Amino acid sequence: MSAPEPQAPTAALRALPSVDQVLKSATARAGIDRHGREPFTATVRRVLDEARAAVRAGAGHPSGADDIAEAALSKLEIDAAPSLRPVFNLTGTVLHTNLGRAILAEEAAEAALAAMRQAVTLEYDIAEGGRGERDDHVRGLLCELTGAEDATVVNNNAAAVLLVLNTLALGKESIVSRGELIEIGGAFRMPNIMARAGTKLVEVGTTNRTHPKDYLGAIGPDTGLVVKVHTSNYRIEGFTKEVEPRELAAIAREKGVPLFHDLGSGTLCDLARYGLVHEPTVRETVADGADIVTFSGDKLLGGPQTGFIVGRRDLLAAINKNPMKRALRVDKIRLAALEATLKLYGDPDRLAARLPTLRLLARKAGEMEAAAGRLAPPLQAKLGPHVTVTPRPCRSQIGSGALPTATLESFGLALRPEGGGHALDALARALRALPVPVIGRMEDGALVLDLRCLEDEAGFLAAFAALELPDGLA
Ligand SMILES: *Cc1c(COP(=O)(O)O)cnc(C)c1O
Repeated sequence: MSAPEPQAPTAALRALPSVDQVLKSATARAGIDRHGREPFTATVRRVLDEARAAVRAGAGHPSGADDIAEAALSKLEIDAAPSLRPVFNLTGTVLHTNLGRAILAEEAAEAALAAMRQAVTLEYDIAEGGRGERDDHVRGLLCELTGAEDATVVNNNAAAVLLVLNTLALGKESIVSRGELIEIGGAFRMPNIMARAGTKLVEVGTTNRTHPKDYLGAIGPDTGLVVKVHTSNYRIEGFTKEVEPRELAAIAREKGVPLFHDLGSGTLCDLARYGLVHEPTVRETVADGADIVTFSGDKLLGGPQTGFIVGRRDLLAAINKNPMKRALRVDKIRLAALEATLKLYGDPDRLAARLPTLRLLARKAGEMEAAAGRLAPPLQAKLGPHVTVTPRPCRSQIGSGALPTATLESFGLALRPEGGGHALDALARALRALPVPVIGRMEDGALVLDLRCLEDEAGFLAAFAALELPDGLA
């Protein structure tokens, strides 16, 4: 037998409203309207359970029907907020993989929305009134933009690499320079992908130097592919030697083995035209003699997450016959966004204005400096006397492994709270807790907000107005 409960809690428990009473309150009617009767009732039960537990623990005070309804409603509002939500990316990394990489062009977003809302010609040939191919919507554009004979699109570049290896080198050897056996991040390591693709990795050369004779000595009757990988997220400097694409293509051709070049980011335009460092384009890589080239859709290209395989028609035919292709294909939403993105490349003069990735990368430090000047006073006013806001130059990164050593001159705001490390972490946390979280980066004991990717200053200030300063800084 359990001991009788003390008198006071029993009275307090009795004072709590019933579920029915709560459901009759005005707040409950609004809550049911917004979230539905079942979820609202279930949440009211949960809140009442918690209230009872609190009373038993001696912590709670009796609540009326309206208080309980109010608590249930605010719980539901929190649950209803999307988990995947917009943020202000002020990290200075334009193509931030954890923040979703490329921001799509308006044209792409509109095309995706239309594809979501209506039936579309995904695999339908309007002229013939019969079955069409999903790739038909972008094949022509991709061939035009890259100079390749044929092209296909899959889920991402990792999928493209997997599919190429599994189709053209299954049960055979793939020859790669030791200097190019990269890890992109997460579980994407070239040697592991090769193992899963069912091809045998044959490493040639050394980490810093690989010569033509290394490839020539390794290519034999069991060779399926010669593989060249763009070392996207690092650069070996110093006493180095790599076999240039054109020379490697000649070697592969002489031996009758296809050359597969994984470009990683891959760009469809000459970035130098927009004031950036020149990166070999897909067109140049095809022209240099690669038989197959793969690259990403959401890195420098500035489109949705996709991966491309472009190259020789006979090799693409084999790739399209691989049953894995079906498992790696893209849906209508991304395909619509992709087609719209690729079409923007037809007009290079306006590309930087319309394609957010390029627009952000091409922004001059002076623009961000002006923004820092405009934003510093209202931020300082909001942050109060215990945080100093200082405009200062900084450097942005392209991100996603594109041009790993090239950084871009930028300008930002350094937020430096009194009290050092602990206060700095608390401030960063407070900025992340905003309705639209603001993500900066830590640098030299300050929270730096790189303004390169901030285009909506008014929206930013509105979000910032909701900031609640952490205890020590208030
Ligand atoms: C980024 C990258 C990949 C992976 O591409 P995803 O589109 O992220 O799947 C593969 N290879 C290289 C060289 C890369 O830079």
